[in-house]
Amino acid sequence: MARYTGPVCRLCRTEQKKLMLKGNRCKSDKCPINKKRPAPGKDPRARPGKRSDYGVQLREKQKLKRIYGMQEKQFSLFFERALRMPGITGENLFVLLEKRLDNVVYRLRFASSRSQARQIVLHGHVLVNGKRVNIPSYLVKPEDEIGIGESGKNMVIIKDSLKEFGKSGVMPWLSLDPDEMKGKFLAAPRRSDITDLGDVKEQMIVELYSK
Ligand code: SF4
Repeated sequence: MARYTGPVCRLCRTEQKKLMLKGNRCKSDKCPINKKRPAPGKDPRARPGKRSDYGVQLREKQKLKRIYGMQEKQFSLFFERALRMPGITGENLFVLLEKRLDNVVYRLRFASSRSQARQIVLHGHVLVNGKRVNIPSYLVKPEDEIGIGESGKNMVIIKDSLKEFGKSGVMPWLSLDPDEMKGKFLAAPRRSDITDLGDVKEQMIVELYSK
């Protein structure tokens, strides 16, 4: 599947929001958002224009899509799936995104960004319930055990990530054993549990796709 290969910080600058796409750099002073760099192509002295409803909805969708590192086609398939699930579509969408294997690998601190987690999965270093799974969009289920296989146990990026980020623990719907390099997806989170994505307004995304 085609991937965005341009400068990732540009995506954050477009949204004027930290999407945390580059691991350690996102927490450093080098982050262009920390430096208050303007959106690409925008004169910093220009007055902000008023966005149409469509423009606001589009930006919300782009934000969420970029946070999870997805392309339009796959994101819209996830949305369709969320629509068919019982309950509130916007919340279902978040739950599905959180269940993606690349996201769980990132959340378990085996990678410093979702794109790095995606590479680790693609290269076959991740086991789900002891079996190798190399599909980043694979949806994990409650009680699934996610671990790093023998091929990845000595990888510096995984060790460094666990050392750097493991200190802050994992989200409450996960558990982690850093020494064994494995963790568990305990239960699907509720929308209210996902507190680190800032102000993404999922209802706007639902309205956009309902047009
Ligand atoms: Fe770049 Fe990370 Fe800052 Fe986004 S949050 S602009 S990816 S350094």
